[in-house]
Parts: sequence; C-alpha cells; structure tokens
Amino acid sequence: MEPTQNPDPTHPEVLGDAGALAAAGEALRPLPLAELHLHIEGTLQPELIFELAERNGMELPYAGLEELRGLYEFTDLQSFLDLYYANMAVLQTEQDFADMTRAYLARAAAAGVRHAEIMMDPQAHLSRGISLETCVNGVASALATSVQEFGISTLLIAAFLRDLPEEAALGVLDSLLAMNAPIAAIGLDSAEVGNPPAKFERLFGRAREAGLRLTAHAGEEGPPSYIIDALDILGVERIDHGIRCMEDPELVERLVEDRIPLTVCPLSNVRLRAVDTLADHPLPAMLAAGLNVSVNSDDPAYFGGYVDDNFAQLNAVFALSEFDRARLAANSIHSSFASEERKAELLKELNDI
Ligand SMILES: [Zn+2]
Repeated sequence: MEPTQNPDPTHPEVLGDAGALAAAGEALRPLPLAELHLHIEGTLQPELIFELAERNGMELPYAGLEELRGLYEFTDLQSFLDLYYANMAVLQTEQDFADMTRAYLARAAAAGVRHAEIMMDPQAHLSRGISLETCVNGVASALATSVQEFGISTLLIAAFLRDLPEEAALGVLDSLLAMNAPIAAIGLDSAEVGNPPAKFERLFGRAREAGLRLTAHAGEEGPPSYIIDALDILGVERIDHGIRCMEDPELVERLVEDRIPLTVCPLSNVRLRAVDTLADHPLPAMLAAGLNVSVNSDDPAYFGGYVDDNFAQLNAVFALSEFDRARLAANSIHSSFASEERKAELLKELNDI
C-alpha cells in the first residue's frame, strides 16, 4: 500500500491524519503481513476441541459448545491459562496437531497473513504424556506444505514455560536439538509475573550457541524491567507484547533507537485485562512514539479474533489511517525472522497494493 502522505514511516507527525481515516467498523481489506506472535495451541477453536475429543474417544467436561464458549471470559492471565491447558487434552496424535495447524493457516490466509512465525509449547504437551515427536512432527507436517497450500511461509518457534524451572527447559531444548527439530527460534511464555527473564539466562545462551533466533514475552503483565532484562540478559532480538515499556520513557527511547520489534496483541490485552478496554490500549501512543510495533493475534481462539479482527476492532476504536495500517504491516515483515529475500517479496507485495 502506498502511504497517503509522508513516505517515511518513522515520521510520527502524519499519524492520526483525519483525511485518510477509514470509517469506524468498515470492513478493511487485509494487507499482506507477517504474524509474529501466535501460539498454535491458542488457535484451538471450540468446534475443533469437540471434534478432536470425539475422534479420540474423550469425554469433555462441558455439555456443549455454548457452555465451553461461556468459559472464555477471563479475569487475568492465570484464568485464561487454566482453560487453555485444560483444552489441550484433546491434542493426542500427530494428526490432531496437524489439523489444528492447518485450521489456523487457512484462517490466517484469509486475514492477509503471508508469513507466520508460530510458537508451540512442547512442555505443555510433554507434561501430559505426549511425546516431543508427536507435537513437533504434527505441527511441522502442516507447516511443510503451508506455502503451497495457503501461500504462507512459516517458521516454528519452540516456546518455554517460564513458570517451570530452567532445568526443565534446558532438557527439552537439548531433546529438540538432538532430534533435529525444525525450529528456527525459541521464545518464553506463560505466567510472567514472578518469573523474570534472568531465570532463563542459560537457556537463551544455549539456544544462541545452537544458532537459534531469540524472542521472549516481556512487559505484558510484568514490569518494564523485564523488557530490559530480556534484552540485556537473554539477548533477545524481539519482545513479545512489551506494552508496559510505555511506563519507562528511557526504555521507549532505547527501543525506538534500536528498532526493537514489539509484537503487540491488542485483543489479547483487553481479554486478559492488561488494559480495561481497547480504547485504553497504548498502540496509538506506541506508534506515535516511533516504536517498531506490529499487530498480532496471540491466542486468537480465546481472545476474540485473528489478526484481521484485531485490525478491524482497532480501526473501529482508533480509526487507523491507511498509513498506519501499512506501517504496521511493514513493521511485521521487517521484524520477522524470514530470509531477506522473503522479506523483500512481501514488502513488494505490500507496496504494490
Ligand atoms: Zn503470547
């Protein structure tokens, strides 16, 4: 998409340009972009949960879809995580993981996603007796044909549960490396508060030595210092969420200066009460500050929408300019771990719109 005014997306003065505002609630044509913050387990839709339970001969503790849907009102991160882990029980076979991944890719393609960096939580499956081979090979088998089937290039990120000990994560990383798992990066997710980045210094050091790219959730519920520590102690290239950086002007300055990507997930932040309403979300302020932010869906089955839904709701509340939308899409592509060649292809596609 051609920016309507100043072609330099680092110039904040064009933000909020009334002339380019799309009407609130109007359907937006999805832009080609990269989704960088997506947990594959968080794409498990209630319908698929019932389907997989039936296929695997499992009884669900819900009478039906409506009862399950009714549980998706979360009060905080922990109340979401409780349901999230409970629902994973239906993922038993490679086919289950592959079907879940294909369902995401099909939906993501409709949302404009052209490159996806997909996190999975191996430890969440190991702890319930599912082997690494089953979960990794299941997801990877769907990713292997994602370009041909859905026009989406993909990378797999092994995310580690920060509420578990580092020793456990180190064991899993070693197993992933030993089985030559097709992972491009590691991440750090789950309950943030009380589990600071420093706890995982050795894990990230080992992953770096193995040639993996590095990202971590920080500054979602945790304080700005967690963002600083993820950068300085873990050496991450990207911060997942990072919205609480806005409480620390010096940190904002550093993030702007170093163009550190922040993979922001607006609907997730509302559902998990990191912000009260979407109107309270700092995304416009982050854009205005010149931060390298992108829009992502996090756990779309749980948080009310995929990346296009995030854009539609942001647009309804903030009336994003075409320039801002294009800038967010361009940021996502620049911030990805894709090859320079793939990034150039996607940027060309975006510019040609
Ligand atoms: Zn996340």
